[in-house]
Amino acid sequence: MTKFYNVNVKSWDVIVIGGGIIGLSLAIELRKSNAKVLVVERGEPGCEASFAAGGMLVDCSAETLPALQPLAIASARMYPEFAHELQVESGISVDLRDHGAIIFPPPEHVYERPGFSPNTLLPAPLNELEPALDAGDRPAFYLKERSVDPRALSSAALHAAKRREVDISSGDEVTAVKTDKGHAVGTVTRKTSFLASKVVNCAGAWSGQIAPYAFPTRPVKGQMLCLLSPRRNLLQHVIRSPEVYLIPRSDGRIVVGTTVEEAGFDKRTQVETIQRLHRAAIALVPELKNAKILEDWAGLRPATPDALPILGETDTPGYYIATGHFRDGILLAPITAQAMAQVMEGRNCAYDLGPFSPARFS
Ligand SMILES: Cc1cc2nc3c(=O)[nH]c(=O)nc-3n(C[C@H](O)[C@H](O)[C@H](O)COP(=O)(O)OP(=O)(O)OC[C@H]3O[C@@H](n4cnc5c(N)ncnc54)[C@H](O)[C@@H]3O)c2cc1C
Repeated sequence: MTKFYNVNVKSWDVIVIGGGIIGLSLAIELRKSNAKVLVVERGEPGCEASFAAGGMLVDCSAETLPALQPLAIASARMYPEFAHELQVESGISVDLRDHGAIIFPPPEHVYERPGFSPNTLLPAPLNELEPALDAGDRPAFYLKERSVDPRALSSAALHAAKRREVDISSGDEVTAVKTDKGHAVGTVTRKTSFLASKVVNCAGAWSGQIAPYAFPTRPVKGQMLCLLSPRRNLLQHVIRSPEVYLIPRSDGRIVVGTTVEEAGFDKRTQVETIQRLHRAAIALVPELKNAKILEDWAGLRPATPDALPILGETDTPGYYIATGHFRDGILLAPITAQAMAQVMEGRNCAYDLGPFSPARFS
């Protein structure tokens, strides 16, 4: 006798692997076209690199690679709307600040570096712009750029995603992308499996650990600390020098960064490193010696061999990747979400994603 079971297997249009700012922003963008989206997160969403970041939105620095410039500029332009939308949908302020940055470049590069042309000279004397700075007679430049609070941003993105009915699975790690006749059909996790006709790998520094492909992503550690300023408006601008950078938040916190270390997946902080950053902050802004240290932490930037992100469809139809944003993932979240949604929905993408193709590592 044949028995018929009514097996109602749940499936989604898209599975997003990883609930960092890249995965969450893309999930929200895909929902706008009504796709059924599931985010599968190993731990808690928004608690890795996207939690550790400083939140500078640097679209025009000496370090931005030329291939990345168009995306960086476009993403910086999208930020006010991106942040506004997340704030409205989540009710969480992401502290988008628009005071610009004061840069103390290394002496040998003062006039040569792209991004430091004469029109970036200070709009007013330094001691008027930032009276608390003690920079001697070091040359300084001004860049028009914004900053955001990445923790608030990730939290707002998570709330907005849930509000848009993105499904979230937390605490279960994806081990493999499942295929059938060469096409992606879902993901295998430690505890279960999920079905979808499209899968996108947004697993940050861990993107290379998901079978079948070993994408060459690696973690690059950054240590940071956070001070509670003795006065709320002690600093207005982001300050960047070769020794340290300072990112003021509107509630009086000042984030101090950072290191760039090849240390594998080790996320511990070192007392000497945190003390060195703290001393460098006090040397630039002496009043910070009265600031309380609120916390220190380390995070893992998702890096690639050529320091460019990996964006696009893999060799397996239906399996996409959006990762490797290294030092710019907070900045690049809006443009990544928009461009990847266009690619995944088969629409024309307004940007040339050729330089970021996963095929360059095939
Ligand atoms: C110290 C520091 C300072 C930074 N400062 C800035 C800055 O000022 N401006 C800027 O633009 N960028 C900055 N960045 C870079 C930025 O934080 C990253 O580029 C960005 O957060 C990457 O986002 P993501 O979503 O790809 O990665 P993550 O935020 O790391 O998210 C990846 C997620 O995938 C999950 N995951 C991993 N493997 C699996 C799996 N197998 N299954 C399920 N889930 C998985 C992880 O748990 C994680 O939640 C900084 C980074 C650091 C560390």
